[in-house]
Amino acid sequence: MMLSQGATIGIIGGGQLGRMLASAALELGFRVHVYAPPDADNVAFAAAHKGVVAAYDDHAAMLAFAQDVDVITYEFENVPVAALEGSQTPVWPPVGALSAAQDRLVEKAFLETCGFKVATHLPVNSAAELDEARKTIPNGFLKARRFGYDGKGQARIAPGVASDAAMAAISGVPAILEAAVNFRAETSIVLVRGEDGSTRSYTPTTNLHDGGILRRTHFETPLPPQVVDEAARLTAVAAEALGYVGVITVEFFVTDDADAPLIANEFAPRVHNTGHWTMDGALTSQFENHIRAVAGWPLGAVDRIADVTMVNLLGDDIDALSEHIKNPAARVHIYNKRAASPGRKMGHVNLLKRTVDFDAERC
Ligand code: AMP
Repeated sequence: MMLSQGATIGIIGGGQLGRMLASAALELGFRVHVYAPPDADNVAFAAAHKGVVAAYDDHAAMLAFAQDVDVITYEFENVPVAALEGSQTPVWPPVGALSAAQDRLVEKAFLETCGFKVATHLPVNSAAELDEARKTIPNGFLKARRFGYDGKGQARIAPGVASDAAMAAISGVPAILEAAVNFRAETSIVLVRGEDGSTRSYTPTTNLHDGGILRRTHFETPLPPQVVDEAARLTAVAAEALGYVGVITVEFFVTDDADAPLIANEFAPRVHNTGHWTMDGALTSQFENHIRAVAGWPLGAVDRIADVTMVNLLGDDIDALSEHIKNPAARVHIYNKRAASPGRKMGHVNLLKRTVDFDAERC
């Protein structure tokens, strides 16, 4: 169903992704309602006509929210599935995408069925099981199956690290032990799928992480074109399998294996930090394309129109804002969060290097 201008988009989650989705929706002429649990920094509310503060499992509040909007979308993959299941209001991306993304074991099995290669991994529920798994995977990452993000809920496993301490570091929750991948680069496919099943995928960037958190993305793709095409094809396969509408992101490790260099790490059923460059470097941003998709509108062109390095402003990096605003080629995007704790995403800067020709006829 194609929503008319003036219809209301409901966004679940009040963080920066919700804020940028809301801004994109406003630009297209939609009304926006945001639903988020109590938090001092629900920065998406500032870009919305209405903000609802309630817990995700407050069924009455969620029902009232749903009745008030024409479509529901979300900015956060840890929204409880039960909160959205059975909704009378359309939910895009579909709730099945949430369930597949919320559990690392289920997620990896799903990615494998779509044809992606994933790192060797084993389920681990106790220090004793971790000891056993370490016989197969001596060097790896212990990752909580649920609720991990930005390197949280993870412990490095290497010879000499005690299994009970590692389990304690992730609070003893069900986990997987995943082999450490010797990668030469990280990249991601950010793809949008429309209601009609059409897909478009942005040019992949080189993604640089530190301590499990994305620091920056660079416009140069660390892959030959045929590998990019294959990664985009598999991402489209995953999106189709989920009956997906909206932006989906798959993150990859790039290895030196000449035949099959890509190992899928995880997928996110949402707009993604590695797609923030598109706000200033693509004909249509990932945020606008997500809104277009969930509104049943035709997708916008994803062509790259500028070489962009995206730099995350984490924690105290926000203090450098006065420097960034002196740079005429820097496009700053500040989230207006009050507390700048270490590693917290406070904003990002898109550094434009040069514009790129595109062919409007072909887009
Ligand atoms: P994740 O929370 O799974 O997205 O991991 C965050 C970051 O930690 C990744 O982007 C990598 O930089 C690093 N990392 C996670 N898993 C592995 C792995 N199996 N091997 C090597 N590095 C990893």
